[in-house]
Amino acid sequence: MYSKEQQQQLNTLTLQLVKEAVTLSEAEKAKALRNVINYHDWRYYVLSEPVITDYDYDKLFAELKQLELSNPELQTPDSPTQRVARGLTSEFETVQHLVSMLSLENSYNEADLNDFDRKIKELTGNPEPEYCVEPKFDGSSIALVYENDLLIRAATRGDGTEGDDITNNAKALSSIPLRAPFSKYGIAKIEIRGEVIIQKHIFEKMNEERKAKGEKIFQNARNTASGSLRTKDPNESRARNLEAILYHISFAEDASGNNLLAGKLESHYHCIEILYDCGFKTPLHEMKVCRNMEEVHEFIQLWDKKRHTFNIDTDGMVVKVNSLKQQQQCGSTTHHPRWAIAYKFAAKQAHSKLLKVEFQVGRTGAVTPVAKIEPVPLAGVTISSISLHNEDFILEKDIHIGDTVIVERAGEVIPYIVGVVPDLRTGHEHKIHFPRHCPSCGSPLVKPEEEAVWRCDNADCPAQTEERAIHFVSKDAMNIDGCGRETVVEFIQRGFIKTIEDLYRLPYTEILGLEGWKEKSVNNLKAGIEDSKNRPLWRLLNALGIRHVGVTTSKDISSHIRSIFDLQKMSVEDLTNIEGIGPKVAQSIFDFFSNEGNIHLLHELKRLGVNTENRPEDALSKNNKLQGKTFLFTGSLQKFTRDRAKQLVEENGGKLLSGVSANLNYLVVGEDAGSKLAKAQKIPSIVVLNEDEFLKMIE
Ligand SMILES: [Zn+2]
Repeated sequence: MYSKEQQQQLNTLTLQLVKEAVTLSEAEKAKALRNVINYHDWRYYVLSEPVITDYDYDKLFAELKQLELSNPELQTPDSPTQRVARGLTSEFETVQHLVSMLSLENSYNEADLNDFDRKIKELTGNPEPEYCVEPKFDGSSIALVYENDLLIRAATRGDGTEGDDITNNAKALSSIPLRAPFSKYGIAKIEIRGEVIIQKHIFEKMNEERKAKGEKIFQNARNTASGSLRTKDPNESRARNLEAILYHISFAEDASGNNLLAGKLESHYHCIEILYDCGFKTPLHEMKVCRNMEEVHEFIQLWDKKRHTFNIDTDGMVVKVNSLKQQQQCGSTTHHPRWAIAYKFAAKQAHSKLLKVEFQVGRTGAVTPVAKIEPVPLAGVTISSISLHNEDFILEKDIHIGDTVIVERAGEVIPYIVGVVPDLRTGHEHKIHFPRHCPSCGSPLVKPEEEAVWRCDNADCPAQTEERAIHFVSKDAMNIDGCGRETVVEFIQRGFIKTIEDLYRLPYTEILGLEGWKEKSVNNLKAGIEDSKNRPLWRLLNALGIRHVGVTTSKDISSHIRSIFDLQKMSVEDLTNIEGIGPKVAQSIFDFFSNEGNIHLLHELKRLGVNTENRPEDALSKNNKLQGKTFLFTGSLQKFTRDRAKQLVEENGGKLLSGVSANLNYLVVGEDAGSKLAKAQKIPSIVVLNEDEFLKMIE
């Protein structure tokens, strides 16, 4: 998309614009801003390698917006400001695809693929056809049309002939260029196909946040992507972090109307290279051109393993004849192209029996039904316990005790129940009775109209106290080393912990006398507790377990206050004035800080030495330099501790992995690195860095 020189020029221009070190007419300036913003969008959304800070980006964006506002004639259709949608879409118009979107025929084993290979050889008369093999992304299909380099239309697959016009929503996706330089390939009009997806880790994070807010969690990434793509509010498409991956050119013609797919464009691989070069996210680095079926089988097997750690859901592979000429020789049936076939990976589903349902009370009082099933091995782990989410879920899936349930687990995702098999019922199944009283304290459960969850609202409910304490010490909260769930449960049972502040006055001498506790583990616990007194304010805020307040909200709020006690003085209105805080969250915070017991707890924590202030050194970094990148540290580090390294990665938007896999981007090695380094050197995609090189990345 951008040559090295162009990138250098754009980087320099960016600097000049940021520092206002260049004199330009308004028209020139608008053009310069457009160019640099589009370039940084590409770096951020397509390459995941941003080179400027969010702060500078926002500044440039605001400047362009202002310029266009005062000089509307300077606004162009490909201006990045056009991604921000105005108003809602009331109804999607139906549009006709330039070329029908056929579905692919499925295959499930090597024999099916060998049959496919035989047919291709017959149809093309070529004894050695090349195949392009690529992962089949599990998302929602789209078709984009560009005319004279401008995006003019985006549509859903629909019935294959006609789909919904979702142009406005597609424009909100920053990985879709509004302008793409197809003209340099002599292409005047083009239709391209792809898939809109949500990366697994983003999907998981979304669900964590929804869970923390008491909202219904999404069942799977594909449905969420397709739902978000058809949302009436285009800004929501953006909010949900959708991405488009483009993998097929279905139509391409030059200015005189000549079909380029029958001439100038030679192979599928070449098409993908063009899309990549024009600034799209493509499977270019995930695909392989195979010269025979052995290579095809081998590559598929490789991906059958790799898919579990790959960041995007894939349910199979697609095998396509590489030569476009040979594709035409094969043609299509009314349903499928003959030159391509999908290979489906073995299902990650299993059958099991639902033995009983337990009802667990969470820290906010939410009662969650948990299915206990006959243990069943699935995708590498044995599963015996699965969340049934809420009463609606049970009713919707018509789940009974004694039913045969279908359990699914995709990659590292939490297992879930897809449904039941009614045909296997014996008549001995019985209904699941959702309790109307708290299983822990017996208080009547309540359920607000708009919520899916039943709740115990007794503040002294023992189950809630336990869960609150467990949440308080957890990783995203006070992150207390040496004190996990089991320890908390043990201390509560022994009466050491009755309220949260008891964590800071544990009877260590007594603990040392208990079975299973040695001097070392007690010292660890003590060090972990002491250390936690010094956490940044947002951790304390999150640790309090206020309803609807998770990590993100805690960070948003704590950057606006000097002390946790400031919240005591704030009205619901004051709170809603903080960006990212809605009325529901504000009310919940207000209620929490209106409760005397909670204020007492905070004063006690402060008295016991826990930090309750927003200190300058805790200022949150808004840096995304390592966005989307994965890291692992090995060997003995000289420049920073492991904990600091972890913190640096996370502060900059990166992610830590626990082992060397193809999913790892960077291995940072200290002195005397051993087996991890050796393993990483065998995987070409992993970049090995020393500590200085790592520090340079985040400078
Ligand atoms: Zn209760």
